[in-house]
Amino acid sequence: MFRFLREWSERRVLERAEIAPAEWEQAFAALPLLDGLDDDECLRLMELTVLFLHRKTFEGARGLEVTRRMQLVIALQACLPILELGLDCYDGWTAVIVYPSGFARAQTFVDEFGIEHEVHEELSGEAWERGPVVLAWDDAARGGYDDGYNPVIHEFAHKLDLLNGDDNGFPPLHADMDAADWSRVFSAGYDDFCRRSELGEDLGIDDYAATAPGEFFAVLSEVFFETPDLLQASYPDIYQQLRRFYRQDPLARLR
Ligand SMILES: [Zn+2]
Repeated sequence: MFRFLREWSERRVLERAEIAPAEWEQAFAALPLLDGLDDDECLRLMELTVLFLHRKTFEGARGLEVTRRMQLVIALQACLPILELGLDCYDGWTAVIVYPSGFARAQTFVDEFGIEHEVHEELSGEAWERGPVVLAWDDAARGGYDDGYNPVIHEFAHKLDLLNGDDNGFPPLHADMDAADWSRVFSAGYDDFCRRSELGEDLGIDDYAATAPGEFFAVLSEVFFETPDLLQASYPDIYQQLRRFYRQDPLARLR
């Protein structure tokens, strides 16, 4: 669609958005994570959220009815990382599938003897390349409490990472960023984190980050928005890279 037509039709969507102030209040109250945003940021986040709800579809799995409140709580968290990047970052797919709670997914892996195994893993979210984002509502609802755990931000960070192919922890960077700097800082951080997590050291960062570089990026994105002081203390260089990538400074906001 021509860009001006999209902008025109989205103006209309914003003008016609029928979300009552009480509904917004309820959703913001469920997300203490957003407390540090100023009025201008809150308004822009609400606009993005309305457009997100317009562009995306919500589908309940296992008979779940995805209420307006659930949609707002998910969409507000999904839009926080792209507050300064724009909703176009989430183009190319439409469905958000919501399970009532964790869902099992069969994963196959090949062991050191070349034998294939199938394991059933309980997931709280998934992001498919050019496909849906899948979330578990009970986990998504627990995400907004600035404690470093946020499955919605996690899955949408994967979506940003997937914009240039694999979710390998190397999303498309802005023109004013340096790819070599990003790789150096993230590789060193990942190696260090894997080593420390193997030693049982507790940095207050989910050990799941040691699974793969893509998971390291997604988990550290959660930490960046929720407990930026922890990230700054352990990996200040990564904090700076994420600050430039997301064009936000949660550390300044949460002080
Ligand atoms: Zn992940």
